[in-house]
Amino acid sequence: MSNKKTGTAQGILVVLSAPSGCGKTSIVERLLKRHPDWVRSISATTRKPRVDEKNGQDYIFLSRTNFEQKIREGRMLEHAEIYGNLYGTPREFVAEQVARGRIVIMTIDVQGTKQIKASWGKEHPLLSVFILPPSVKVLRERLTGRNTEMPEEIEKRIKRAQDEIKEAKLYDQTVLNQNLDQAVLEVEEIILNTSKPRRDN
Ligand code: 5GP
Repeated sequence: MSNKKTGTAQGILVVLSAPSGCGKTSIVERLLKRHPDWVRSISATTRKPRVDEKNGQDYIFLSRTNFEQKIREGRMLEHAEIYGNLYGTPREFVAEQVARGRIVIMTIDVQGTKQIKASWGKEHPLLSVFILPPSVKVLRERLTGRNTEMPEEIEKRIKRAQDEIKEAKLYDQTVLNQNLDQAVLEVEEIILNTSKPRRDN
């Protein structure tokens, strides 16, 4: 979508949700490789980093005190408590990038998406996409295979995935991640269709 007055691109906020293990990280990584001008919002969290995670790259790791301070200061666009930890989107980066005409992708949970849908104005388009796993069996295999959580944590994530899937209807679009390459192309097409200039503009 382009801005008629300036001829510059119109920024879009893309909210991508998927239960843990549905491949959203891989989908986003591939989209960003294919579109170097698209950007990802890096979430803040109070959860401890996993072994291969880097601060400022995978998440911004904060103490609970620090995180709560940022909420009080209005510096989180949305936030949610998940598995006993806080997760949230720093407001400034998203606002700045969308205002500059960028396509900004954020990967957040359903609670966060509800907050964004309620508060995002009309100035820039908002697109929400939910990624579905092929089945709970596949989801369990993926979560077990990545070896980052204890069995008890995996069961918590599966239970939560089942709850989240029930809310997929809140989203503008759903994409089944049966095959990663295919899912990437589908999400890409949805984003590109939203960013196309409308004839009646
Ligand atoms: P994980 O700990 O597996 O990285 O993420 C757990 C959950 O937190 C996932 O469902 C993920 O989408 C969600 N999440 C990650 N960042 C954010 C965020 O900034 N806001 C919200 N609401 N959820 C987030």
